Amino acid sequence: MDYQQIKTRLAPCGIHCGKCFAFIDGDIKKHSHGLKESLGNFDMYAQRFAELLNEPLFEKYPVFKEVLTYLSAEECKGCREESCNLFKDCKVRSCHLDKKVDFCFQCPEFPCNNTGFDQHLYNRSVDINMRMRAIGVEKYYDEIKDEPRYK
Ligand code: SF4
Ligand code: SF4
Repeated sequence: MDYQQIKTRLAPCGIHCGKCFAFIDGDIKKHSHGLKESLGNFDMYAQRFAELLNEPLFEKYPVFKEVLTYLSAEECKGCREESCNLFKDCKVRSCHLDKKVDFCFQCPEFPCNNTGFDQHLYNRSVDINMRMRAIGVEKYYDEIKDEPRYK
């Protein structure tokens, strides 16, 4: 994937939109949709299996299905296309445009106190940007492209 394509996946803060559960073209959405399709009309079977197998876990299937339905319906186009629904206080999205940089590590003020992030997200963003600065965006993307977003 080249630099421009990577930018459609990585937000200016470095967070991997492409692996976010809300991303329109992400694996989580795709697999949730696929699993939901594969399960078909499992609702009535879940009840049956709860009895046949004496396994009360199957009684929770409607909740699991609700989560799958939610994940299948997400369609965020990523931070560079629209405001993030998850990190509503993010200031990086508008700030990187003002600073005319693609990623925070390219900004002379990095690391700054202007992100609007909580400590957890701030730490992640700084770590990611340090790594991108050290090895380059393309190499960084190769390094993380098969890793889960949530770890
Ligand atoms: S902009 Fe926010 S909600 Fe959308 S894919 Fe990126 S991290 Fe997820
Ligand atoms: S000022 Fe901070 S948030 Fe804005 S682009 Fe620079 S490093 Fe990123």
